[in-house]
Amino acid sequence: MRKKIIAGNWKMNKTLSEGLSLASEVVNMANDEAPSDVTLVLCTPAIHLSQVSAIAKDAKTVFVGAQNISEHESGAYTGDLSADMAKSAGASFVILGHSERREYHFETNTQLAERVKLALAKGLTPIFCCGESLETREANEHVEFVNNQLKESLFDLSAEQMSQVVIAYEPIWAIGTGVTASSDQAQEMHKSIRTSLASNFGEDVAEGISILYGGSMKPANAEELLAQPDVDGGLIGGASLKSRDFIDIAK
Ligand code: PGA
Repeated sequence: MRKKIIAGNWKMNKTLSEGLSLASEVVNMANDEAPSDVTLVLCTPAIHLSQVSAIAKDAKTVFVGAQNISEHESGAYTGDLSADMAKSAGASFVILGHSERREYHFETNTQLAERVKLALAKGLTPIFCCGESLETREANEHVEFVNNQLKESLFDLSAEQMSQVVIAYEPIWAIGTGVTASSDQAQEMHKSIRTSLASNFGEDVAEGISILYGGSMKPANAEELLAQPDVDGGLIGGASLKSRDFIDIAK
């Protein structure tokens, strides 16, 4: 049975006090009404991690994640966050390779491969993001493009390591645009990702890996997307900033 995961990516939103209010609301609602078999993850700005983690301790199904880590363990890397720091602040997940990081901070597949390994070594579960631009999709190269992202960042892992990774397919054209992938488009890509995982790591590993969809997921479209056989959850941006919407997606 694959884990069902609804992860909120707060991005660069919410002051500390606003973030703590949001986390408290999510924890209360999770305890009262969210399904017990859905893992909820709050990927907060780094500055919020330790206090949100303290709040999340009151809920069985709510965990905390960072939005990025460095590939370096420590040292002279001004402004960066290490895996140890994230872990010590209570994070158990970390988003890696979000398209905004790839675009604005020029993160490469090779660098992300190092981050994935470091996260795993430090006991953080990577939520590895992949996904194509509109241009790539229109050229009908999306499957190949995503497969290459996986190949260059993940396919050096052992099967044991790979089984600890969560994948998030986030077509760039669907992020923050209000345009979501259709459930058929999402299923096609998720299936292709799983097939590719199976040929590299074996059927059992591939069947156990949670593949999340991200890109304008909201309560109104979540049910159809999440009903697809290879869609195991969501990575939610905008709709994770409202506790009601986030919990409704999980439900
Ligand atoms: P969105 O963002 O839900 O606002 O489209 C998703 C993401 O970037 O993770």
